[in-house]
Amino acid sequence: MSSRGRAFISGGAGFLGSHLCDRLIAEDFEVLCLDNLLTGTRENIRHLLDHPRFQFVEGDVTVPIDIAGPLRHVLHFGSPASPKDYLRYPIHTLKVGALGTHHTLGLAKAKGAAYLLASSSEVYGDPQVSPQPESYWGHVNPVGVRSVYDEAKRFGEALATAYRNTHRLDVRIARIFNTYGPRMRADDGRAIPTFIEQALRGQPLTVYGDGSQTRSFCFVSDMIEGLFRLLTRPAAPGGTDLAAPVNLGNPEEMSMRALAELITSLTRSGSPIVFEPLPPDDPRVRRPDITRATRLLGWTPGVALTDGLATTIEFFRQRLGAGAR
Ligand code: UDP
Repeated sequence: MSSRGRAFISGGAGFLGSHLCDRLIAEDFEVLCLDNLLTGTRENIRHLLDHPRFQFVEGDVTVPIDIAGPLRHVLHFGSPASPKDYLRYPIHTLKVGALGTHHTLGLAKAKGAAYLLASSSEVYGDPQVSPQPESYWGHVNPVGVRSVYDEAKRFGEALATAYRNTHRLDVRIARIFNTYGPRMRADDGRAIPTFIEQALRGQPLTVYGDGSQTRSFCFVSDMIEGLFRLLTRPAAPGGTDLAAPVNLGNPEEMSMRALAELITSLTRSGSPIVFEPLPPDDPRVRRPDITRATRLLGWTPGVALTDGLATTIEFFRQRLGAGAR
């Protein structure tokens, strides 16, 4: 059936997970997708459900996983990932980052599979260095509101690294920076879907703080390309080249105020911008240094923010229209 083997992915019905499932299917893999649908949706994978090389299992990666048959790749993408979602499910977020990483690493070890961990730019916390290279250790409040996600991802990286060193598992760690595009949930609380939804509904755009804090946004197709290259790149003899985390993101940085203004203009919305209190521990800046990804994977993101936003706005416009009917 498949010429490229079988991949297991946790969180495969989420935003990034479902786009990865699409790519893996398109690249001739068999895909076993596990998701508990806590923040992912069946809608994201509905078009794959009847595909002969796709299998969906509704289940929770925080409990041990028993999978029959061989696996070539194990990808751990399950986790609430927006601040609003992980604040709503703080303990589950810690469990999926700790127990979920342990279970998926154990699965990869049992199957002799290569392992890809979805880590996050949140490991850098509120960075005091910008842009952030992988060598920066971060600035994280271990008991702050974001710690349930930040520390879970940091623990996940430590555990995956220990499996690599102890069991010689082929481990790859992607530090994923802010990514946007179709299939984000309108209510996930993140800046881009929130601003687009507000603009399309003619509601005020809620910028937190004075809007001078920055992020750098990567369109989903660019992110999937980077992740796919990281997943499939053959390890060099000795295996040292991929032995450390790799930043993936778009280095084009902008303020949240400028983002809100851009979205108002692209949607041709008459919505005003209102300022609301800045949530605690909200990082002041975030921008990836992608030198390592470019050198190792030959990867740089290519989709301009205005183009990616236009595609995303169209997605939300259609969703809104379908919901209104
Ligand atoms: N933000 C905002 N208004 C919103 C939602 C988010 O100003 O309605 C800000 C938030 O305070 C942060 C930035 O946008 O500074 C990005 O937030 P997001 O939740 O998208 O992700 P983060 O990068 O903080 O994980």
